[in-house]
Amino acid sequence: MIPHETPVLANSLWTATAAPAPRYPALDGRIETQVVIIGAGVTGLSAALHLAERGVSVVVLEAATPGWGASGRNGGQLNPGLKHDPSAVIARFGADLGGRMLRLSGGAPGLAMDLVARHAIGCDAVAPGWIQPAHDAASLRALEARARDWAAQGVELSLLSRAEVAAKIGTEVYTGGLLDPRGANLHPLNYTLGLARAAAAAGAQIFAQTPANAMETTMAGVRIKTPRGLVSAARALICTNAESGPLAPALARSLVPVRSVQVATAPLPEAVRAAILPGRQAASDSRRVMVYYKMDGAGRFVIGGRGDYSDATTAKLQANLRRVARQMFPQLGDTPFEHAWGGHVAMTADHYPHLAPLGPRVMSATGYNGRGLALGTAMGRVLADWASGVPEAGLDFPVLPLREIPFHALRKPAVRAAVVLFRLRDALGI
Ligand SMILES: Cc1cc2nc3c(=O)[nH]c(=O)nc-3n(C[C@H](O)[C@H](O)[C@H](O)COP(=O)(O)OP(=O)(O)OC[C@H]3O[C@@H](n4cnc5c(N)ncnc54)[C@H](O)[C@@H]3O)c2cc1C
Repeated sequence: MIPHETPVLANSLWTATAAPAPRYPALDGRIETQVVIIGAGVTGLSAALHLAERGVSVVVLEAATPGWGASGRNGGQLNPGLKHDPSAVIARFGADLGGRMLRLSGGAPGLAMDLVARHAIGCDAVAPGWIQPAHDAASLRALEARARDWAAQGVELSLLSRAEVAAKIGTEVYTGGLLDPRGANLHPLNYTLGLARAAAAAGAQIFAQTPANAMETTMAGVRIKTPRGLVSAARALICTNAESGPLAPALARSLVPVRSVQVATAPLPEAVRAAILPGRQAASDSRRVMVYYKMDGAGRFVIGGRGDYSDATTAKLQANLRRVARQMFPQLGDTPFEHAWGGHVAMTADHYPHLAPLGPRVMSATGYNGRGLALGTAMGRVLADWASGVPEAGLDFPVLPLREIPFHALRKPAVRAAVVLFRLRDALGI
């Protein structure tokens, strides 16, 4: 069970199967460092690891424990790219910066897999590609356009026929699909805990149960207050994503946290494993309110989708996922679903992640729109570049000022209305 979490989000497969991890102490006292990082998810820990490997002194402050946020709860899919297709990225940011953003995001699963290999992180990591199946002709056309877009960037994706998708996924519900060879998948909590271990081994000091309660910029740098300590640093990196709160209220108002949920079966019999995702690709279907699924290292079927702010509706959506899974995959038979959990994803108004300054010495990276496992790892490296003195123009992602979302207080009814509308449009095929 995820500690200090509401029951409907707490029964996590990843927590139940987590590898033993060291206990990181709480900060007690004053400490000086070159860089302080707030938040021990993949973004903060990747930044810490990359900085520590360059010989920079780093302190990581985590309110709970490493991986407590979305990084330890997600679907385990290392997906390449941004939410927007390459031509849209180039149109907005130009060929040079847009090209760098595409190489960063397209290479993000590869970066994560390199870290797994280099630091011997045991997390059931496999890299057989990522399937985006299409449920109708319109979504198939969108996938064909995506394949052409990436081809123009020198990346070959494979379009799959109806029969090929059926063979690779194990269901007849799709009309075709796209296989992106860059995709990978893994046990996300063990990956995050592995990054923490690697960062600590490289010299980063990690403190758990240590919320950063206040931040103040001084002539010399930044000071962070915690319940029983104070960190002075030359620079600070804010990596709190959907859990961003009162430490940086303007950052919190630039994001809409949305619940996302998962359910997982017990380990499936060998014959069923051979019939569902036999190549162990992860898949995300193309409906607007999408479902995404994969098999874990022990042959459990794991499927996720959107949740809701109310616990009762979230429980219904988890029940809905179980129903959809059994409809799509009758092979699951009567294997029970043993886990149901969830967390928050941070949505942004423009669907891009945001690399935004919170003062001259403070940088934040947030807003992965439900796709930050690989991308957060890559953005951690970009943050490490900034904290090591790379000028903003030399970074592989644009630094843009924070844009607060108007009427942020109305986000819950607005998100509900949007999800209802998207479901309706999916049902009507428009
Ligand atoms: C159910 C679910 C499924 C998902 N599936 C996928 C997927 O399959 N593939 C994918 O790419 N992405 C997926 N995502 C999104 C992905 O998990 C996130 O984008 C990514 O993990 C964000 O990482 P992060 O390090 O930026 O933030 P987080 O992992 O959320 O870490 C932020 C940390 O900051 C800490 N914190 C907050 N405030 C403070 C403070 N004041 N002081 C100290 N610490 C603080 C929190 O405790 C938390 O541990 C999913 C998310 C969810 C919830």
